[in-house]
Amino acid sequence: MKLSEEQIHRYSRQIILPGIGGKGQRKLAEAKVFIMGAGGLGSPAALYLAAAGVGTIGLADSDRVELSNLQRQILHRTCDVGFPKVESGKKTLESLNPEVIVKIYPERVTSANAREMIKDYDLVLDGSDNFPTRFLVNDACYFEKKTLISGAILRFEGQLSTFKPHANGPCYRCLLPEPPLPGHVPSCQEAGVLGAVAGIIGLFQANEALKEILGIGQSMTGRFLLFNALNLSFDEMKIQKNPRCPLCGEHPTIKELVQYSLSCPTQDIASLQISPKI
Ligand SMILES: [Zn+2]
Repeated sequence: MKLSEEQIHRYSRQIILPGIGGKGQRKLAEAKVFIMGAGGLGSPAALYLAAAGVGTIGLADSDRVELSNLQRQILHRTCDVGFPKVESGKKTLESLNPEVIVKIYPERVTSANAREMIKDYDLVLDGSDNFPTRFLVNDACYFEKKTLISGAILRFEGQLSTFKPHANGPCYRCLLPEPPLPGHVPSCQEAGVLGAVAGIIGLFQANEALKEILGIGQSMTGRFLLFNALNLSFDEMKIQKNPRCPLCGEHPTIKELVQYSLSCPTQDIASLQISPKI
C-alpha cells in the first residue's frame, strides 16, 4: 500500500524516526492488534495505537461503562455511562483516527470463543482485570502462536511482560502455573488503583506493541518489569521458560483451553508474590 499525502502529514512526527519511515508506517497500517479489556489498561493502549495508525484494533469487553470507571478508563466519557464499553471505545477511537478499523467483541471471553477471537490478529494486549480471563488469554495465545503483551496494575504498582512461547520465550504459566484461589488476592475494586498508574502501564503495553510490529528495540520477552509509582522505581527480573510449565513445558498437561470459574471475585496479578530483588 502507498501512504496518502494526508497519512504522511498525520504521522509525520513518527515517520521521521529512525527505524520507522514510510515502511514502518505501512507495517503499522497493516497490523492487527487485539486488546482484551476496554478498561484502565486497554483505554490508553488503544488510544495510542489508534493515534499511531495501527490499521485494525480488536476491542473485547463485556461490561458497560460505570461512573467509577472514568477515573482511569479514558476511552469513555461521562455521557457514555450505561453504554457497552466496546461501543464507547469504538466511538472514541474512530473520532481520534477515522482510518483505524475497530472491531468490537461485547461478549465475555470463554474457552469456546477465545481462540476464534484472537486468531486473525498479529498480537494480543491483555488488559483484563481477573485471573480466569488472564489465563484464558495466555493459553489462547499459546495455542494460536500469538505474541502476548501483558500488563497488570493494583494500587500504586504495575507490572509488564511480553510472552512469546512460540519463539522459545516463557508464557504466563511459566511464572504462575495455576490461578490463585479466589479471595487470596485483592481486586482493584477492593484495593483501589491510581488512574495514572493504569495510564503508565497501558502505554508501556502500547509501546511494546509498536516495537513488536515495527521490529525495533529490545523485546520484553523473558523480562518482567515491576513499577512502583510512589517511589517512581522500576525493578526488572529475568524470566525463563519453565520446563515444568503445564502449558509450554516439556510434558504439558494442558492440551486445550481451560475455563476457570468467572464467579470468583475480580483479582489482579499485581499481588503475585514475586520478589523483585533478583
Ligand atoms: Zn509456559
